[in-house]
Amino acid sequence: MTENNDGIKRIAVMTSGGDAPGMNAALRAVVRTALAYQLDVFGIHQAYYGLLHDRLERLGARDVGGIIQKGGTVLQTARLPEFSQVEVQKEALANLRKHEIDALVVIGGDGSLRGAHALHLLGMPVVGVPASIDNDIWGTNMAIGVDTAINTILDAIDKVRDTASSHQRTFLIETMGRDNGYLALMAGISGGAEVTLIPEHPVTLEEVQRRVQHAYVRGKSHAIIINAEGSGIKSEDIVHYLKDHNFGYDIRMTILGHVQRGGSPSGFDRLLATRLGHGAVECLVNGQTDVMVGLDGRRIRAVPIDDVINNERSANLQYYALIELLAR
Ligand code: ADP
Repeated sequence: MTENNDGIKRIAVMTSGGDAPGMNAALRAVVRTALAYQLDVFGIHQAYYGLLHDRLERLGARDVGGIIQKGGTVLQTARLPEFSQVEVQKEALANLRKHEIDALVVIGGDGSLRGAHALHLLGMPVVGVPASIDNDIWGTNMAIGVDTAINTILDAIDKVRDTASSHQRTFLIETMGRDNGYLALMAGISGGAEVTLIPEHPVTLEEVQRRVQHAYVRGKSHAIIINAEGSGIKSEDIVHYLKDHNFGYDIRMTILGHVQRGGSPSGFDRLLATRLGHGAVECLVNGQTDVMVGLDGRRIRAVPIDDVINNERSANLQYYALIELLAR
């Protein structure tokens, strides 16, 4: 039998904020690790909204069977902007108390961790598990869902490249990344893009055109442009500019949108989610609270949520230089 050092008897778990592939694998690990510690586990449907509306359900081992490979979240997620108000937090806390919940695991992004921190300040032990396809969470090398999202983008780039080189085309692919260019940058490097536009590194339309033209002059059969949605230049504007300054390639555009969120989690994400979910329960039974479990090198490590929500994580611009270096 696994030993529980902190007198915790009953925990609750939610998936919150933007959904990410691997949330289900994390949920499964939380539930089954908790059961191994002889804890009762309650799942909260629809995140803080569901907590406020008392949507809690007791979960057993079989309830999380057959979900490790599923994208999205079986608990569902929701957004509740009012959760930043203390009165609303207190109402939610009252529901946790009503069900005699001793501690809470929140699987989600930066906003969800802010909500967890607020509940900690009101006296509820909490542990966070980072899940966000943007990889914008400080305190972990990778968040759950990032690897799957990169692979989804790469799959699209590879398919588009086949048709691009058959027709001597430039293809622009718009990815997610409103404030953070991590996904676009990684997809740009591993997809072999000629140009990548991210919020952290503004470039002009003239510069985009110059680089695409350079690819043509060097005899490339195609050019791939990756544009993060928050790069500061609209994809349509790039397409129009390149059409107006025509020099050889035909140009087409693909906006990936929500396909980047979905799909079965990759092996990396399943493993990461499983380790983090397990680690979160270990933290709780060891008496840790207000921490997020993260990947630090090859280890799982707990970091204070206070640090997570007060530090920015932005894309590493050394990778940007690498894209330029290799696109020759
Ligand atoms: P993510 O967790 O993916 O970053 P959001 O930023 O939308 O997604 O946050 C998810 C939910 O977390 C919000 O709908 C809200 O209920 C809660 N939340 C976000 N920010 C705060 C905050 N500052 N204080 C308390 N709760 C918050």
